[in-house]
Amino acid sequence: MRLWIHDPLAIFAEGAGRGLVVEDGVIVEIVPAGAVPSRPADARFDASRHVVLPGLVNTHHHFYQTLTRAHPEAINKPLFPWLQALYPIWSRLKPRHLELASRLALTELMLSGCTTAADHHYLYPAGLENAVDIQVEAARDIGMRMTVSRGSMNLSQKDGGLPPDSVVQDEDAILADSERVLKLFHDPRPGAQVRIALAPCSPFSVNKRLMSESAALAERYDCQLHTHLCETEDEERFCLEVYGLRPVDLLEETGWMSKRTWLAHGIHFNAEEIGRLGRAGVGVCHCAASNMVLASGICRTCELEQAGAPVGLGVDGSASNDASNMMEAARHALMIGRLRYGAGAVTHLDVLRWGSEGSARCLGRDDIGKIEVGRQADLALFTLDEPRFSGAHDPLAALVLCGAHRADRVMIGGRWRVIDGAPADFDLAPLLAAHKAAAREFA
Ligand SMILES: [Zn+2]
Repeated sequence: MRLWIHDPLAIFAEGAGRGLVVEDGVIVEIVPAGAVPSRPADARFDASRHVVLPGLVNTHHHFYQTLTRAHPEAINKPLFPWLQALYPIWSRLKPRHLELASRLALTELMLSGCTTAADHHYLYPAGLENAVDIQVEAARDIGMRMTVSRGSMNLSQKDGGLPPDSVVQDEDAILADSERVLKLFHDPRPGAQVRIALAPCSPFSVNKRLMSESAALAERYDCQLHTHLCETEDEERFCLEVYGLRPVDLLEETGWMSKRTWLAHGIHFNAEEIGRLGRAGVGVCHCAASNMVLASGICRTCELEQAGAPVGLGVDGSASNDASNMMEAARHALMIGRLRYGAGAVTHLDVLRWGSEGSARCLGRDDIGKIEVGRQADLALFTLDEPRFSGAHDPLAALVLCGAHRADRVMIGGRWRVIDGAPADFDLAPLLAAHKAAAREFA
């Protein structure tokens, strides 16, 4: 069926004044102002109330943390004490908790206009060995695209790392499971719903062998690599003390300086390191809200992009944001970017591009993230009907500056998954009730 989404109020795409045509889940035609589709459409959707964006792509999250938002043990602390307060609470995570948390986070993201999400699940207490399987099933049920990042930690307190022994695995178990889930779930083809990435957690929770072996596996199975890097100055001190290396040198030594890699945060780089990352094509996921909440610092997005590094956006885990809203992430990126670079340097178009095409590049994808012929029909449509938009002039700027946070419609692979601001395929209320009940077990 050819669906013409016509006459948008505004659209974040070149020459698409009269909209776009979707067929078999793919964008097949861009319709310029004053034109009609080259062949008749079977159906039409009137978008004259809608601002149309490419579906937003979230490149960093920890879904399980939706169960510990605004937790009194952790609020008002910087990263290391924050983590040390939460690890023992998180060690109680069971499969049913992760299932509910994944469904809730995916739904929350989708309602904000997100169509693809990467989750970084690195917590493996005994009994949660099938975390990836649980997340893949949740993504398939909700209908979102996902890069499920098989996270890992193998450097616990007994070996000089930060996490307690109860939440880590040994590297042979991690590598065997990484290979298992790559074989089972990783789909490198265009239009894939599920991809796997390998994601040793951070320099202070994994050893060098796990980093190197993960990079070798990624090469063999053609998947992306992800980790937290240069989030805080504490991390930099840890790397210098334990490895005698700065974090970027550690990345280089373990075979991670390539387009396969995208990093969460990427704050504390020096100018020379930014050049090296850009030349290697390493992507950086800017998590503005989390960085502000934990007072970690400000990502040098503009220098990174100028150096050639893909820049994407991420909401980060729900214990440090504490919301999973991609439009909010774009707004935060604009504001903190301006604080750093000045009022003209970071525009609403920049942050929308980072949250869509830039994020897609971080995930190694050129089949999503942009409204362009041949890409997947992943779209987010917003109305400007709420009081906060009343009186706004430039509709695209209004989304970011007035603070859009809920999409009216979301399409993924040509199928409407959000209609009238609510999930199209399921009832939100029972999911919310079950998730809230589960969260009480983490008080
Ligand atoms: Zn994180």
